[in-house]
Amino acid sequence: MAEGNALVSNIGQLVTNDPARDGLLGVITDATVAVSDGHVVWVGSQEDLPGEWAFLPEIDCRGAAVVPGFVDAHTHLAFAGDRADEFGRRLRGESYEEIMAAGGGIQSTVSATRAASASDLLAVTIPRVKRMMRAGTTTVEIKSGYGLNAETELRLLGTIAAIDDTLPIDVVPTFLGAHTVPPGFDGDAYIDHLVTEVLPLCSPHAAFCDVFCDEGVFTVDQARRMLLAGREHGLGARLHANQLAASGGAQLAAELGAISADHLDHIDDTDMVALREAGTVAVLLPGVSFSMQLPQARGNELWDAGVTVALATDCNPGTSNIETMPFVIALACVEMGLSPERAVWSATRGGALALGLEDRGHILPGALGDFAVLAHPSYLHLAYRPDAPPVERVIKRGDLIPG
Ligand SMILES: [Zn+2]
Repeated sequence: MAEGNALVSNIGQLVTNDPARDGLLGVITDATVAVSDGHVVWVGSQEDLPGEWAFLPEIDCRGAAVVPGFVDAHTHLAFAGDRADEFGRRLRGESYEEIMAAGGGIQSTVSATRAASASDLLAVTIPRVKRMMRAGTTTVEIKSGYGLNAETELRLLGTIAAIDDTLPIDVVPTFLGAHTVPPGFDGDAYIDHLVTEVLPLCSPHAAFCDVFCDEGVFTVDQARRMLLAGREHGLGARLHANQLAASGGAQLAAELGAISADHLDHIDDTDMVALREAGTVAVLLPGVSFSMQLPQARGNELWDAGVTVALATDCNPGTSNIETMPFVIALACVEMGLSPERAVWSATRGGALALGLEDRGHILPGALGDFAVLAHPSYLHLAYRPDAPPVERVIKRGDLIPG
């Protein structure tokens, strides 16, 4: 990826997330940021800019607010087909069982994805990623998991790699072969198959291994086996945990020192302590609760317990067909009750930590030059104006992304 040079100037309000500055967000007013070779080299008040950086190509923000580029740490956005019909059925009152019996649910996405060629998959995924980028996302995690066989999981990981090569966004690939149990297997037999046949082929193309550990999906023992096998193949552990029930996933994530435990809609105080002590990031997905008309996770209690919290879209065709982080920030504020400061931090620095990426999610010397220039004077507008495009321009490694 090209490494740009820029003087990002006339920033009315700059969110740095720099812990050395005041407040959670380390806000500076009337700020300038200098970016050289894709990395931040100087941050401060406009009038203090050292002369050596004054001649960088200028990006004039005209008084707008600037935040670190969003880091979306949990998506499933490589898939074919959609499930609008299922969404409509659910809103008309049909049960999940009725929808499944009519061929809906995750298996319908698996069927559509297995039938899609590599070029078909890329063609439907690129527009989604472009919409995310336009809304300020500069790093995205993408999971496989709609193949559930070696051939299609590999094709999905190939699509994810092609996105990283094609678009000016950093993509973190995750192997989620254990997304659900496909027909013809029981859970143990499918984990056996994944560990012996699929993981060795897929692991060179992924950074993390993930498992949907929950009631009716994979048990704690099955998830542990999968994540330990992933670790033997060099993959970090992350986990879909406690989404549907208090199913032990959060404790497993802590036990394994997983980098993140995601969803966490059904957790207790003991789970929170375990996550904090393990240093496991809680990735919360308010778009799922919104789309499924369910209660939101206990975001403020996780924050108050000292757990590192991230926010992500969980972009997927079944339970959260939501692509943009500003909308997620609005949901986190209005529906989950996070303060705007906690929400913005969680969507930037929290997301970076959930992916183990120390060099982003904040704006200070050494960080990547990844920024979202808002269409507004304050980060408050991200939640305050949820229906209008809140991001005007996006800068990736010091280069303006073409609109
Ligand atoms: Zn997910």
